Amino acid sequence: MYEGDKLKKIFIYFFSFLFICFILPALLTKLEIPTSSEEVGAGGENKEKSANTEYTYNKYGTIKLLHTKTNEVEEVALDTYLCNVVSAEMPADFEKEALKAQAIVARTYTIYKINNKKHDNADICDDSTCCQAWISKEDRLAKWEENKEEKWNKIEECVNETKGKIITYDNQPINAFFHSNSGGKTELPVDVWGGGSNMPYLQVVETAGEDGYTQYNSEVELTNEEILEKLKGKYSDIQIDFNNAEDIKIVEYTSSGRVKTIKFGNHEISGTEARSVFGLKSTNFEVVKEDGKIKFTVKGYGHGVGMSQTGADSMAKSGSSAEDIIKHFYVGVEIKDVNEL
Ligand SMILES: [Zn+2]
Repeated sequence: MYEGDKLKKIFIYFFSFLFICFILPALLTKLEIPTSSEEVGAGGENKEKSANTEYTYNKYGTIKLLHTKTNEVEEVALDTYLCNVVSAEMPADFEKEALKAQAIVARTYTIYKINNKKHDNADICDDSTCCQAWISKEDRLAKWEENKEEKWNKIEECVNETKGKIITYDNQPINAFFHSNSGGKTELPVDVWGGGSNMPYLQVVETAGEDGYTQYNSEVELTNEEILEKLKGKYSDIQIDFNNAEDIKIVEYTSSGRVKTIKFGNHEISGTEARSVFGLKSTNFEVVKEDGKIKFTVKGYGHGVGMSQTGADSMAKSGSSAEDIIKHFYVGVEIKDVNEL
């Protein structure tokens, strides 16, 4: 029996050793888990949840925005800035998928500008004719007549639901041009700004439903004298015989059907020049000669390159998602998370 007692003792020592060194710590650790998470309390779960959905930009988290009126440079969070941009660029009563598309387009445009700087001390400015439109939340709310908070919340949702998303081509952020209304067909950049295009994603694409928006149709009527006056500013030797049908005529159209070249007497000018000289909403116009007057009947609003905002809204109304809209207006692109570039 002595030998048996000895074995029993060895077994007890061995088991105690196992218990103290391995089993007890394991039990304690297990017990500690619920204790510590109870200590965090009910908020702990929310914190964990929001930590999972919260998006952190590796780069581009904040941007330097130049306020052109005051010449001040403000450092702002990218997505806060985008709420101000989207609310300045697109009506808040547009469809949510159109606003989400606009948020992705504006984010892409901003990141493109950060990498291709126009300004010395800033990434981007608040002037729509230079970079991208921007409006302060205060001014925005003051301009809306009703449902102010609802509208702002809708914009914020659209920016937050697309956090980090940008448009890429060949794994690079694209130069995401956009405009108000394409008049049914978008334009090639080469026909607006000339030069060669290294932007194969900007093609002529057709969109239905843009004629339902006020930006689609417009007219500008000028007297023969006004036409001469406006042209004289640029061409001092301008001479037009208004009785000669051949003296004012469209010479060439672009592949999208916009005016490429138009003849005024002894000068031929580009459609984009005519647009700026006569204050037309787009280069998609026809010329109607009336007694002592010239009438321009215009389709669409803006340069026509890239995404049409009213086209985006029209597509969204027909059930398209933000991604469908983007892939329609920018050919062969992908939507990626900017942190994964
Ligand atoms: Zn600028």
